Amino acid sequence: MYDHIVIRYAEIALKGKNQKDFLNRLIKNIREQIKTDLEFTPKIEQEKGRIYLLLEGREPEIFFDSLNHIFGISSYSPARKTSSLDLEEIKATALDEMRQIVQGPTRFRVSVRRPNKQFPLQSPEMQQIIAAHMLKNIPGLKADLHNYDIDLLLEIRYDAAYVYTKSYAGLGGLPVGSSGRGVVLLSGGIDSPVAGWLAMKRGVTVEAVHFHSYPYTSEEAKQKVLDLAAKMAKYSNRVIVHMVPFTKIQEQIAHYCHDNMRIPIMRRIMVRIAEEIARQREAMAIFTGDNLGQVASQTMESIYAINQVATMPILRPCITMEKEEIIQLAKKIDTFEISIQPYEDCCTVFVPKDPKTKPKVEACIAEEAKLDLPELIRDAVERTERIIVYGKIIESRQQREI
Ligand code: ATP
Ligand code: MG
Repeated sequence: MYDHIVIRYAEIALKGKNQKDFLNRLIKNIREQIKTDLEFTPKIEQEKGRIYLLLEGREPEIFFDSLNHIFGISSYSPARKTSSLDLEEIKATALDEMRQIVQGPTRFRVSVRRPNKQFPLQSPEMQQIIAAHMLKNIPGLKADLHNYDIDLLLEIRYDAAYVYTKSYAGLGGLPVGSSGRGVVLLSGGIDSPVAGWLAMKRGVTVEAVHFHSYPYTSEEAKQKVLDLAAKMAKYSNRVIVHMVPFTKIQEQIAHYCHDNMRIPIMRRIMVRIAEEIARQREAMAIFTGDNLGQVASQTMESIYAINQVATMPILRPCITMEKEEIIQLAKKIDTFEISIQPYEDCCTVFVPKDPKTKPKVEACIAEEAKLDLPELIRDAVERTERIIVYGKIIESRQQREI
């Protein structure tokens, strides 16, 4: 019977002095995600280089979905822990594990890791002893160092050994919350949820800002954004969505500003409002799904003109990606099917016939002078709705064996 899941982390291990903060964050994230998903708080222990999740009589599989959605985990294995470093007990535990999974003729090898250098037997010697014990007790086994069906792993730690045969890939990345906070401009499209997910992957706590033009855009369009946020929240436990009413601003732009300048002006105002919300939330960067050359607002000139109003970094994780790469990621994180639902976006409703692909900053400034920007922005921020979306993971129990 498995009693632990051994959790490994890769990149965090490189973080020198900050390692402790990263690790504490990762453990907190594991604890909170499992609490959201399974409605209890698991026991977690930590030892140099490893995190141990205690099963306390539960099946390991129930934790897999949660672990598959937590950034910072490189891999994990259901494991049996011995109660001591007694050789006979280690042999018996290894035999139990093998008996559980061997069916018919099987090639295997034994790999021993020995972070505890006090342990009297060296790894190669230990490998031989364990392999011989398996061969003696299980018929049909054949030892083969290179072509093996089963890699029997033993970790000789300080107070006990862990025995396991299966490892599953984690997501990699850094634990969410270890790189500060940012807001992602979340449209209903394909790119921005992917951008938000990539920000999370690098440890950013992501909050979403969405601009809606109700009643020009529908209730469904708003719900679509919340559904996207819920998919993202599976990777960070929860996402706060700031729903900004953008109708008045768009009406004013449509009324006062030149047709072909609408998009850069809209975008410049979005950036200003997002910054205001980011400041309130103590966030330090804005993420977008911009992708160079994809549409009129994403030429170098447009990005330049839009960027001019920013005082915070605007980070664009998808900027150089192929559309197909973005779609692949959107499918992986399960946002694609939601993104392609046909509800209008605030931008499509007001989209001009002939948008400028090379808007000039001076022209933007001249057009914006026709609006009472400070008041429009203040009003939109004040009427922004804040919704917390949780990402409970209840779907497929899938894991990728490595
Ligand atoms: P996406 O697939 O993310 O919608 P897109 O390729 O459709 O991107 P645009 O519509 O030009 O490109 O939008 C560029 C970026 O501007 C989006 O990725 C998003 O970050 C932001 N954005 C656009 N519309 C909105 C909106 N209504 N609310 C919040 N952010 C938006
Ligand atoms: Mg879009």
